[in-house]
Amino acid sequence: MRRIPFVDLKAQFAEEREALMPVIEATLAGGAWVGGEAVEQLEARLAERCGRAHAVALNSGTDALILSLRALGIGPGDEVITAPNSFIASAGAIIAVGAVPVFADVRADQNIDPDAVAAAITPRTRAIMPVHLTGRVADMDPLMAIAAHHGLAVVEDAAQSFGATYRGRPAGGFGHVGCFSAHPLKNLNAAGDAGFAVTDDAALAERLRRLRSHGLADRNNATEWGLVSRMDSLQAAILSFRLGRLDAVIARRRANAALYRHSLGHLNAPCRNHEFNTFHLFVIQVGRRDALRDFLAKRGITTAIHYPVPIHLQPAAAGLGYGQGAFPECERQASRILSLPIHQFLRPEDITAVCEAVTDYRGRD
Ligand SMILES: *Cc1c(COP(=O)(O)O)cnc(C)c1O
Repeated sequence: MRRIPFVDLKAQFAEEREALMPVIEATLAGGAWVGGEAVEQLEARLAERCGRAHAVALNSGTDALILSLRALGIGPGDEVITAPNSFIASAGAIIAVGAVPVFADVRADQNIDPDAVAAAITPRTRAIMPVHLTGRVADMDPLMAIAAHHGLAVVEDAAQSFGATYRGRPAGGFGHVGCFSAHPLKNLNAAGDAGFAVTDDAALAERLRRLRSHGLADRNNATEWGLVSRMDSLQAAILSFRLGRLDAVIARRRANAALYRHSLGHLNAPCRNHEFNTFHLFVIQVGRRDALRDFLAKRGITTAIHYPVPIHLQPAAAGLGYGQGAFPECERQASRILSLPIHQFLRPEDITAVCEAVTDYRGRD
């Protein structure tokens, strides 16, 4: 039985090793190990790819969210509207600046529902944090209109969607700031923790640069209190290298998604014509999900659930006062969603094997 893993980072390194090792060696030999040319070059390329004037390299996607909220002046007494079905970091970043996460339910495509966002606005709302979940951009036209109408900032959590577009515009290219993760499990991945933020606002970019380095405006002058959230030069060099191969990775994932959709399309929320989906995840929604997951595991197919426990039902969120039933669509999906393996090292016959296993299982009703 050929095993079909959910991710295969060893295969990634094996493929890139010969070309990547000289890059790593040159970066170490250059002697700039934090900041420096490797980081500046990466920032220029990331800004260009996102259609933004500035990119600021940071040490994680979570810090990109936290520092962006801080740079926008969001803190105690403020509310930020976000999705309850995201990775815990989205709401965690809002909590980290002392603000209150307010959730709005999602639609069938797992992205935040603009009508629910509009209904969640209060006099304390300062920002909307849409999450571009699974590799597709949230419905940004109505979200940006709501934000403009109410004078709210928009902080995009684009951690899962680098390279995705909506009406031709890249993820991270809509709000005041777009936040990305380059965690090893993301499509554009570092060899450790890394992240970045993109914006057109020069003052905001400057503030992010200060906040990532102790609040220092230059070597000796701290204009505010900051943190240490810089990107390692080694990670920047690795990311620049991988950015050059990203379109091929996305193309492989999209080809795998097309194969999946051929057999399992009725189980996956369809893409609209104006969406370019990078398929960070390929999610099906099914009844008896856990039993299907076990069945696939017995056939050597590893799957995952992103995410089984909605944020508002996490023990950490008890103090926010939400209960079971607060976000029916999100909660229904939490019991039905299953992420199938879709990474770039799978072969067409692997995808066919997964489709056959899913179809076999569902035929047993
Ligand atoms: C991965 C992820 C983050 C956090 O990124 P890190 O780099 O791991 O800190 C935030 N939001 C979402 C939606 C994510 O998937």
